[in-house]
Amino acid sequence: MNRESVVAKKKFGQNFLKDQSVLRQIVEAMPKNDNKIVEIGPGLGDLTKFLVDVKSVEAFEVDTDLCKLLQSTFKEEIATKRLHINCGDVLEAWQSELVSEPYDLVANLPYYIATNIILKALADPMCKNILVMVQLEVAEKFCASSGEKVFGSLGVIAQSVGTAQIVVKVPPTAFDPQPKVDSAVFLIQKKRDRNDKEFEDMLRVAFSQPRKTLVKNLSSKYDKKLLQEALEELELALTIRPHQVNTNDYHQLYKLTRSLDG
Ligand code: SAM
Repeated sequence: MNRESVVAKKKFGQNFLKDQSVLRQIVEAMPKNDNKIVEIGPGLGDLTKFLVDVKSVEAFEVDTDLCKLLQSTFKEEIATKRLHINCGDVLEAWQSELVSEPYDLVANLPYYIATNIILKALADPMCKNILVMVQLEVAEKFCASSGEKVFGSLGVIAQSVGTAQIVVKVPPTAFDPQPKVDSAVFLIQKKRDRNDKEFEDMLRVAFSQPRKTLVKNLSSKYDKKLLQEALEELELALTIRPHQVNTNDYHQLYKLTRSLDG
């Protein structure tokens, strides 16, 4: 099999990035450090080629046909240990430790599992930075600030672990085959690992009906009167909507609701 005979498999979210200038922008946006790189879904290896020039890469590819192709394309890099390719589903590999040393995740992710992968990377203490291409809508959710309509639990989670910013927006024409949606590369620089599960449970309830008030949503979980007292203590209006509350106030609210739990 050679790269010309590859037919993209929809079930694996295969949209190969062809635009050389976007590939270069991804490499230029990589944080400067000594961390290893983890690439999820190297595909035909176009991004991998750039990455192995800069750092050593641990790659995870689920498609066995592409795995074989990568193994023959990168014989030299594999022999010199610049590149190690794991053939299989990255989510299965991640049931235990993915990599045993500090790493940055750099990838054009398969969109059908992109959010799941990013949340796992945010929780992984070995992962230090995340630079990934995803659907534009998903990137905007992770990079949103309080007050913006799209600010939700993903934005709170990203801001709680570090900083998140869009690097470049990418049109469908940059790929082959072209996806139906716009894409974006974004960077999360982690300062700490993801929050505890109970905090995120509270966020899920807080944003369950984005157009309703925060009090209305959270009163399905907490006593309404005590909740109102907590909001008053934080000087938040009782009519405030979930996207208008900032990340710091969500953490304060969480502390207060824990004391409400008794
Ligand atoms: N990196 C290549 C590029 O930029 O052209 C390919 C990106 S393509 C959007 C996503 C890649 O992820 C495909 O190669 C696909 O086979 C792979 N993939 C999909 N699901 C996967 C999984 N569960 N584990 C590992 N790789 C996966």
